[in-house]
Amino acid sequence: MTAPSTALAAALGTVLGSAVGDALGAPFEFGPEGAFTARFPTPGYGGEMCGGGGWDPGEATDDTQMAVLVGESLLRHDGLELPDIFRRFQQWAAAEPKDIGLQTEAVLGSGDPWDLAASLHFQVSQRAAGNGSLMRAATSAVYFAPHGRTATMTAARQIAALTHGDRAAWEGTALFHELIRVALDGRDPLTAIPEALDFVHPDHRARYATVLAPDWHPDRATEFNGAVWPCLGSAVWALRTTDSYEASVRAAIDLGGDTDTVAAVTGGLAGAVYGADAIPERWTELLHVPMPGSGDHNRVLRAPELTDLARRLATGIDAAPGPRRAP
Ligand SMILES: [Mg+2]
Repeated sequence: MTAPSTALAAALGTVLGSAVGDALGAPFEFGPEGAFTARFPTPGYGGEMCGGGGWDPGEATDDTQMAVLVGESLLRHDGLELPDIFRRFQQWAAAEPKDIGLQTEAVLGSGDPWDLAASLHFQVSQRAAGNGSLMRAATSAVYFAPHGRTATMTAARQIAALTHGDRAAWEGTALFHELIRVALDGRDPLTAIPEALDFVHPDHRARYATVLAPDWHPDRATEFNGAVWPCLGSAVWALRTTDSYEASVRAAIDLGGDTDTVAAVTGGLAGAVYGADAIPERWTELLHVPMPGSGDHNRVLRAPELTDLARRLATGIDAAPGPRRAP
């Protein structure tokens, strides 16, 4: 693997790579295996940001929208302010985004307080191990990476718990945070997996060890890849079995199923490993992230804005110009 020249390139690659994977995979959601390669047989040929299934070419989905909300809250509060993230999620959900996860929608719309809503929903439904907290973790992973392993894994769990009551979702999100931290540190996240597993809650360690093992293949998944375990396992598999950003997200989308999210998670990891410059420009050019519920209903982030967000998250400096008063 070629390491990006700087930690900053890796951080920008994480955020941009996840968003590009999301937008690239969205038109193929719930499609069959191999659909991407059937349509675009030659890597590098172009036209892959094709849109479809209700998505414009390059349009990112809820994965990236929620990641942006988390990132902007972290910068606004100079740290983790969980009630604020929950409130931002609620405003976004109320604005009827094109896509929203079932668990996320139920929790955010429940009317229950931020610190109880997810656990109350889990008590009733017993279903909360979806990939909906993992899919939005690129921004927080970049922000918390410099704070060390314990801090980043703890923050990942807390943000995941806002919408997902099942600890399995927290632990998968914490693992993603840790692998991104390692990559931003210039090391290979794949070789760091055994050590990272030591810091997973004991009740969940064996199941993650299975899906993150070098010999695991997505065909061995025991659940649909909308669940957190096969989603993370598939992303790591896609990273492990390819040698470029482009090849990794192609492999992820070719798995079929929850393609936007599997590619968003894969793209975050691959972007961290290969750096932002490894993401094809023909993909970033079309990338755009509509932000419903942000007050300005036409607000759309494109690659330059996402790059700026990632830079501010990586450096911990919110350099966005504040409101200026005329002298
Ligand atoms: Mg999505």
